[in-house]
Parts: sequence; C-alpha cells; structure tokens
Amino acid sequence: MRYVDEYRAPDAVRVLLDRVSGLLQEIAPASPLQIMEFCGGHTHAIFRFGLHQTLPEGSVEWVHGPGCPVCVLPRESIDTAIDLARRPGVTLTTFGDVLRVPGTRQSLLQAAAEGADVRVVYSPLDALALAREHPDREIVFLAIGFETTMPATALTLLQAVREGLGNFSLLCRHITTPAAVRAVLQGPDPALDGVIAPGHVATVLGSAAFDFIPRDYRLPVVVSGFEPVDLLHALERLLLQRLEGRCAVENGYARAVREQGLPPALDAIGRVYELRGEAGWRGLGRIADSAVRLRTEYADFDAERRFGSRPTPASGEEPLPCGEVMRGRLRPPQCPWFGTRCRPDAPLGALMVSAEGACAAYHRYRGSSAP
Ligand code: SF4
Repeated sequence: MRYVDEYRAPDAVRVLLDRVSGLLQEIAPASPLQIMEFCGGHTHAIFRFGLHQTLPEGSVEWVHGPGCPVCVLPRESIDTAIDLARRPGVTLTTFGDVLRVPGTRQSLLQAAAEGADVRVVYSPLDALALAREHPDREIVFLAIGFETTMPATALTLLQAVREGLGNFSLLCRHITTPAAVRAVLQGPDPALDGVIAPGHVATVLGSAAFDFIPRDYRLPVVVSGFEPVDLLHALERLLLQRLEGRCAVENGYARAVREQGLPPALDAIGRVYELRGEAGWRGLGRIADSAVRLRTEYADFDAERRFGSRPTPASGEEPLPCGEVMRGRLRPPQCPWFGTRCRPDAPLGALMVSAEGACAAYHRYRGSSAP
C-alpha cells in the first residue's frame, strides 16, 4: 500500500537501525536515554513492530505519556453521558472504545445493559445521520479526542446548524494536547532526553505548536508518523540533536505536517470552540486550559445546556496508579493490578480499556520484553 509499505520496508528499517545504533554508541549514555512518546498510537507502533527489542540493550527507555484520549476521560464525563442516555427520548452516541471506560458507578456499556439508549458510531456524521432519521429523538454525540478529532466534530456541528437539526447536540469533551504535555513536563519526573510528538495532532496544529518544549524545557522534539521508519527516523534526529547540543522542533512527518498546520481545520476549531478553562483528566488531576467547549453562539447545540445535566460529582479519582504510568514514573507491569485484576477483558483502569492505552499495549505484546 502506497505510503505504508515503504515505511515498513525491512531494508529501510535495517539502515536506520544501523544509523541509530551508531549514534547511540557515539553518545554512549551512562544510563538509558529516556525518550517520551506521548501518543498512544506511537506506543502501540513501538510494541507492534518490536522496535523496543531492536535497539542495543539498555540504550533507550520509552516513556509513555498521556496521549490516549479515552484513557484520560474523567469519571465525571462518563457519569454525565450516562445521565443523558437515561433520559426519555435521548440517544447517546459515541465511539466504541468509550463504552467500557469506568464511570463512578458503571460504564456506558453497563448503563446500556440496564436500558439506557447508547449507540456506537464511527464518526460524528453517523450521529448526525441518526438525528435526521429519528426526528422524534434527541441525538447526543459524546465528542472526545485531541485536536485530531476536533475539526470533524466542529464541521459536523456546523452542518447541523446549516440544516437546522434541532434534535442534535454535543456533549463536548475534547481536550488539548499542548496543555497535557506541559502538565507532564512540569513535574519533577521523569528526566527526559527527548520527545517524539504526535504526527496527527501536528497535522492539524502544525509542528510550531510544540515550540514551547525546547524553549521552556530544553528538550529536543521530533514530530513523527506512525510507521517503523517514521519512528526510527525520529529517534535518529533526536539523537543527532543531542550529539550536536541542540534543542529544536524538527518535522519528521513532512508528508503530512506543515509548520503552521492545516488552515481549514484550524478555522473550524476556531469558529466552534473556546477554551473551557480548567478540566479534569483521569489520572492527572485538573489541568488549566486543557479542554474546549462550544462557543456561546452554539449553545443550543450544547447537550449539557439543553438538558441541564448535573450528575452526582465523583468523590475523587480511584486510588489506581494509572496517572503514574501517564507521567512516565511507572511502567505498566510495575502496577500491582497489571494482568491480574486489570486485564483488557476486565479493565480496572482506563489505560487498559482503550486500544491506545499503554497498559493494553504492554498486555497485548507482553510476550516481548518491556521497553
Ligand atoms: S494496569 Fe490497570 S490499574 Fe494498573 S496502571 Fe494500568 S490501567 Fe491502571
């Protein structure tokens, strides 16, 4: 497949591995270099393609960040969604991997089993189609994700406005990547040596969105795609920056990313959302300016305002170490519940729920040695 096969080609991977190994020999770190990839897609690619096993032993430790939007959904958001799904005449729609995320008392899947009307959709446009097909029902779309999914939700909302679809609304739980990265980097741990930034977020926001990392935290950054060649290429460029004593954002995903992002997507985001202010992140607590809500001109399409949803506030995060994993302080197998009380078929924490969660990745590929 064009744009995939060439980025998985064994010959290209071998060449890059040789170059990366050579650079690691040259740098000769006294302890493993700590490289953070804060996107769940990158975490899975590293495991899936066995990249963690191909580098010289003890040379690199991959530190996983909070880049899985399902994993960081706070319980309050699930509780609010359940509250709406139980209302007479309301159908709550969302993506499939949200359904098993634990709320305070239950998940959306469990609520559906008790009669709440919850349906899986593959895109916000599917939810819009349901609103057209069922004018007698209120269709609410639980919108989650980082800047990658914000534009699609925004464009769907604008379409609903154009069509005057009065039975469509959004439960907006979109979150912002830079704020989360800043929250993680501000902590004392881990002492990182470089950051691999998510190519899909950078496609929307532009690589310049990560300029604050070298400026404020003196860390080199490379924006990367999701194939083995992309990730090894990004690692090579991080090592070169270290060898040359530089800290900058480099774009290793030039086939998709521009420095200033994607204007139509940025325009849609700017038209529809405004910063919500402080927002709760599962495992990370409350983070300033880390979420968006609908602008007041779209208040009629805001499900919380339309239905006046007020779920019982959660009494605090469950005492699970998921946040420590997201901050890179703990590796999933070090969690006492990993693989025992917390498994993909019976997740205790959110990092085991989503296909993008670090714990799910470790569990799935744990036949391999941990990176
Ligand atoms: S194994 Fe489960 S409880 Fe432990 S950190 Fe991972 S998701 Fe959280």
